[in-house]
Amino acid sequence: MRKKIVAGNWKMNKTLQEGVALATELKDILAAEKPNCEVIIGTPFIHLATLSELLKDSVIAVSAENCANKASGAYTGEVSAAMVKSTGAEYVILGHSERREYYHETPEILKEKVDLALENGLKVIFCIGESEAERDNNQQEAVCKAELAGSVFHLTPEQWKNIVIAYEPIWAIGTGKTATAEQAEEIHAYIRKCVAEVYGAEMADETSILYGGSCKASNAPELFSKPDIDGGLIGGASLKAPDFKGIIDAWK
Ligand code: PEP
Repeated sequence: MRKKIVAGNWKMNKTLQEGVALATELKDILAAEKPNCEVIIGTPFIHLATLSELLKDSVIAVSAENCANKASGAYTGEVSAAMVKSTGAEYVILGHSERREYYHETPEILKEKVDLALENGLKVIFCIGESEAERDNNQQEAVCKAELAGSVFHLTPEQWKNIVIAYEPIWAIGTGKTATAEQAEEIHAYIRKCVAEVYGAEMADETSILYGGSCKASNAPELFSKPDIDGGLIGGASLKAPDFKGIIDAWK
């Protein structure tokens, strides 16, 4: 059975102290009431070591939101996959549309990041998804397939086991416009078909594919009830413990 996952993406929010407070609150809530899914929080680099230590005996795994496309050296301000791993973090989110758009991360750069993350023992939450104009032109399938082919379909089947896909339509991120459960299921099923073409039906069936884009406690149950939606990557609603817990509870 593939994993059900609810993963938070804090983006560039929370000071270290605020992040510790939020993670502590979430840890306590989930210790009192065990989740029915894997729970991950994606945080800025500065939180990783502290939160990995704080959450080490909890049900919550820690993820970075990015890593460098170079292994080490004279790249001022960058943080390598090995450095992320050394904090105790287990995951890294790569390919988020904000990084593709604002930091010009191309499929080639993302491929380098994915390779380095896996080489250093991190699991990757790899984000794909179309813009509003691409959806209007019915290009969502072509966009998702190209993003997968450009950065992750070169991986070996063994490496693929450490990949989680997050389908995040750009028009739904932070906009309050959620894809309908039917729209999301349709593209999730297509993504799984693309994975099956490369890695076979069995591995595709084992691959967790998350939905991201204005997911909240009110719409998560319907989205997660669909057969090819294995959970969510959550932005805004991961910044308050009760909101995030509401989404985790959709798996109950
Ligand atoms: C995201 O950026 O990964 C995301 C899904 O954001 P939001 O939930 O705020 O739409």
